[in-house]
Amino acid sequence: MAVEEEEETKFSVLCSLFNWMLRSKSAAKKRSKFRKFLDNFCKPSDYFSSIRLILPGLDRERGSYGLRESVLATSLIDALGMSRDSDDALRLINWRKGGAKTGAYAGNFALVAAEVLQRRQGMTSGGLTIKELNELLDRLASSENRAEKITVLSTLIKKTNAQEMKWIIMIILKDLKLGISEKSIFHEFHPDAEDLFNVTCDLKLVCEKLRNRSQRHKRQDIEVGKAVRPQLAMRVGDATVAWKKLHGKEVVIECKFDGDRIQIHKNGNEICYFSRNFLEHSEYGHAMSDIIIQNVMADRCILDGEMLVWDTSLNRFAEFGSNQEIAKAARDGFDSDRQLCYVAFDILYVGDTSVIHQSLKERHELLQRTVKPLKGRLEILVPNGGINNHRNSGEPCWSLIANNVDDVERFFKETIENRDEGIVLKDLGSKWEPSDRSGKWLKLKPEYIRAGSDLDVLIIGGYYGSGRRGGEVAQFLVGLAERPAPNTYPRRFISFCRVGTGLSDEELDAVVTKLKPYFRKYDYPKRAPPSFYHVTNNSKERPDVWIDNPEKSIILSITSDIRTIRSEVFAAPYSLRFPRIDRVRYDKPWHECLDVQSFIELVHSSNGT
Ligand code: ATP
Repeated sequence: MAVEEEEETKFSVLCSLFNWMLRSKSAAKKRSKFRKFLDNFCKPSDYFSSIRLILPGLDRERGSYGLRESVLATSLIDALGMSRDSDDALRLINWRKGGAKTGAYAGNFALVAAEVLQRRQGMTSGGLTIKELNELLDRLASSENRAEKITVLSTLIKKTNAQEMKWIIMIILKDLKLGISEKSIFHEFHPDAEDLFNVTCDLKLVCEKLRNRSQRHKRQDIEVGKAVRPQLAMRVGDATVAWKKLHGKEVVIECKFDGDRIQIHKNGNEICYFSRNFLEHSEYGHAMSDIIIQNVMADRCILDGEMLVWDTSLNRFAEFGSNQEIAKAARDGFDSDRQLCYVAFDILYVGDTSVIHQSLKERHELLQRTVKPLKGRLEILVPNGGINNHRNSGEPCWSLIANNVDDVERFFKETIENRDEGIVLKDLGSKWEPSDRSGKWLKLKPEYIRAGSDLDVLIIGGYYGSGRRGGEVAQFLVGLAERPAPNTYPRRFISFCRVGTGLSDEELDAVVTKLKPYFRKYDYPKRAPPSFYHVTNNSKERPDVWIDNPEKSIILSITSDIRTIRSEVFAAPYSLRFPRIDRVRYDKPWHECLDVQSFIELVHSSNGT
């Protein structure tokens, strides 16, 4: 049946599509339901208003609702006029635990909400149209005060039944869980839809330009001012796998910076900042735009990179998480030791041309020619140049051409020791492809897991850091206890592994300050380590200081990569690969340290050799 011109499509029709899709097992069936909906129930002029409800995560026409599950829970409670301590209200608030059907809907807010709504809403649809729903959702996103949001939610509740409201909640939370990929929706809509979306991030434009499925659209290139979907990295398990995947290619390894992926679009004096999810981040403008205008030599340009915070007093990048706060401080004119710093690792557009089709090697050259770095504010990441030229002695190298797998292993180890997130390997001959995760970029991060039970180990020594932590203990030698006789405390500790990552600077400082009175330097080989430590003669394990009284020491809970390794460096038979401190156990006395035998049993039971 064709849709009559004057008829407005009801939201209940879209809900039937959702229910059908949910019930269909195969992707092909889900796609054919979607096609049926487009052909029979949706006017071409309504494509955008429907598809934005099917792919709400890609819709940038509407601002954010500011309603995550917890806020949505209290807003719904108020919109339904429920008492906050009623059973149903508590069900909504504690949605993670699940609804009345014990735990059946645990973790799915929309299903818990549907259960609560079912007791309050009728079964019959209120006849809400797709157009009305979009208008109400616009109001929900644009209203800044809570009271207005609650009014909109009550209107929605009045005009729907519980099933429809469940889908609306999923739309607000931007995840419909239909079991069909965005790729399939795009392909079913139009063969060129995904390509066009990737270079424009504009769902409305895609729905309007590609109404006619049989008319192909010429491939469009990227444009300054329109966000492009970022090239992504494929995750690999270890350096050998990474090296094999890029076999025969010229490979650059880069530090994986832990900040915000930001695309900077420069059009004369107009600068835009787009996030990984193509949201505009104008808050970066105050701190960065003047620098971009002055130090980016092209009038029109798109840079790809990571926005980070540089700490001028520590001369290093700050830990992830303070970008917004620093952007606000810059806007409000507050002085701080911390400032935003953009690390450009790629360039996508220069002058009047897109350069994504050129090789990464060529783009690195363009990046060097186009961007004039400014230490701690605007850096470029290219091998043998850029940020690598700015580093202090002792600081790590940020990018490097890899000649063999050992280079990759070494670089990875160094970044982990430097408490960075991991590394990215890139094929220098590859072009930049929007949204591609096919393996031209590979990421390698340590795989941390809890080793079944906690590994609670005792700090027995400390190693000085280099660079910014020079002269201060930055890593620890930890030990396992020799199993003591029943009802006695351990008397000896066996060196186990060296661990430095996992704690924040503040946490690390607190541990070091507490232990400082017990640090003792030992001159090798003149003096042997304290007799209550069992260590090897391997020079790699010698800490700069030993804890001279284990009874004053501190227990650390550590996790590690899934694999344990046979140890030649440390006295214990096994050590850990990429150990990481999970937390400091101030609550555990020194003598509750894990003993070697229990650890070996643990290794054998998990087959982790
Ligand atoms: P993750 O949570 O691992 O960052 P993701 O899905 O956000 O994953 P991926 O494309 O899989 O993103 O991983 C690459 C991400 O790493 C980029 O989005 C970017 O934010 C970040 N990154 C940091 N340093 C680099 C670098 N040198 N080159 C490319 N990406 C980098």
